[in-house]
Amino acid sequence: VKRAGRHDFRFFTAAMQQRAARHLQLVNALRYAVERDQLRVVYQPQVSLKSGRVVGAEALLRWSTPELGAVSPVEFIPAAEESGLIIPIGEWVLRQAVRQARVWLDAGLPPLVMAVNLSAIQFRSADLPSRVAQILYEEGLPPEYLELELTEGVALQDPQGAINTMTQLHDRGIRMSIDDFGTGFSSLSHLKKFKVYKLKIDQSFVRDISTDAEDKAIVSAIINMARSLGLTTIAEGVETVEQLDFLREQLCDEIQGYHFSKPLLPEAFRALLEKE
Ligand code: C2E
Ligand code: CA
Ligand code: CA
Ligand code: CA
Repeated sequence: VKRAGRHDFRFFTAAMQQRAARHLQLVNALRYAVERDQLRVVYQPQVSLKSGRVVGAEALLRWSTPELGAVSPVEFIPAAEESGLIIPIGEWVLRQAVRQARVWLDAGLPPLVMAVNLSAIQFRSADLPSRVAQILYEEGLPPEYLELELTEGVALQDPQGAINTMTQLHDRGIRMSIDDFGTGFSSLSHLKKFKVYKLKIDQSFVRDISTDAEDKAIVSAIINMARSLGLTTIAEGVETVEQLDFLREQLCDEIQGYHFSKPLLPEAFRALLEKE
């Protein structure tokens, strides 16, 4: 590592200060995001490669304010996590998504599984399984229509705690998937103990799938391993027909990505389902 000169040091400090200020600004604004009606949920279709039909939707949070404009979840989710605001915000998203799934079922649209992202902090709160069950009950959605997306990181600190929580969710009929799979070094033994039913292959592996032999090998290995464990696979970030062809050839179960559709507001998603 090179020793930073005085100039570099000052520059570094200014950048850090700027980051801290932005963080504070986001956290302060996020506090009021729910009550000021600044949050929206968009839904990205998940498509079965066998049937070609939409079989699921991932709920993705959107936030914009008059002062800040649209802020990416890549930026505000970490701020929400660090401030603890992810607990009320995450619960808001969960309820919206569950309610939306119920609305589409009631409208007679083909049933689909609603996938909701769960932050590690939400996952570790002791009453998570009962809170989720409560929301399903209040919104009248059977648990098999819900899927919680967890990252491999949730189990890092406390594997036994994670297994307990996952067992409780599983016993309540709620499905769980591992998001960004391949980036967190999950072991096979873990996957068996965790009551997971689906692996979401991270977009970083899918991106160069048609040109990069290593990525091809990784994706193929994940799909084969998942199959032998009886797990469903979905590839994220599928943008091209070349990626799609490779995934189909490898017997990947589902795809999600711009090739089929970007995340949509509820009205647009419904229009897409009705066209099917
Ligand atoms: P993620 O869970 O891995 O979500 C997938 C991201 O990839 C989404 O970004 C989605 O819009 C984007 N995407 C989908 N298809 C494509 C594609 O074909 N190409 C490319 N390049 N990107 C694609 P988004 O919506 O900006 O969300 C970013 C991250 O923010 C999510 O990554 C997730 O970690 C987090 N996030 C979003 N909503 C929530 C939420 O409600 N709760 C929590 N805890 N995290 C959330
Ligand atoms: Ca996700
Ligand atoms: Ca992901
Ligand atoms: Ca690569």
